[in-house]
Amino acid sequence: MDVFIEPIGRLMNEFSKLPGVGKKTAQRYAYRVINMSEAEARAFAEAIVDVKKKVRYCSVCGNFTEKEVCGICATRSKNVICVVKEPKDVIALEKLREFKGVYHVLHGVIDPMNGVFPNDIRIKELLSRIAEGGVEEVIMATNPDVEGEATAMYVAKLLKPLGVKVTRIAHGVPIGSELEYTDEVTLSRALLDRKQM
Ligand SMILES: [Zn+2]
Repeated sequence: MDVFIEPIGRLMNEFSKLPGVGKKTAQRYAYRVINMSEAEARAFAEAIVDVKKKVRYCSVCGNFTEKEVCGICATRSKNVICVVKEPKDVIALEKLREFKGVYHVLHGVIDPMNGVFPNDIRIKELLSRIAEGGVEEVIMATNPDVEGEATAMYVAKLLKPLGVKVTRIAHGVPIGSELEYTDEVTLSRALLDRKQM
């Protein structure tokens, strides 16, 4: 990026850290910023700093929140817990407006090939939630790919002796795909047609 003057090259370099942003796009973004008003540019930069300052993980479910405990955990009945891989999966499921329980975000799935083992994701935290009592069903809604299935099976094996019903979302979600990109009708169906593990 040495054909660019330093401040522009530097901004382009920052933009190119974003997913899906190549050199060309980074350049377009940087030029757009140059054309912003001082106030616009400041608001843009502050939104980035703010999100880092204010967003944290819910101490119960691990989803993003601004508070100690997220809005979902604070208000919903806790007898059904839906277990997902990432915060973006909570958004995908919440869009359906069907699920009325709470979530548990694992922040990953078991993937030994890439060095992710059960202790690296929030399985212990799930077990302590179950131990507190009152949970009737745990829905394993990890993605229907190899790692997602393996994680669902692993967690189910741990939970069954605790006397909690464990279910798996149905295969309406195409195998190997991600919850996030599954259309809402299919995802609704998958949730509704869940099977006992
Ligand atoms: Zn929460």
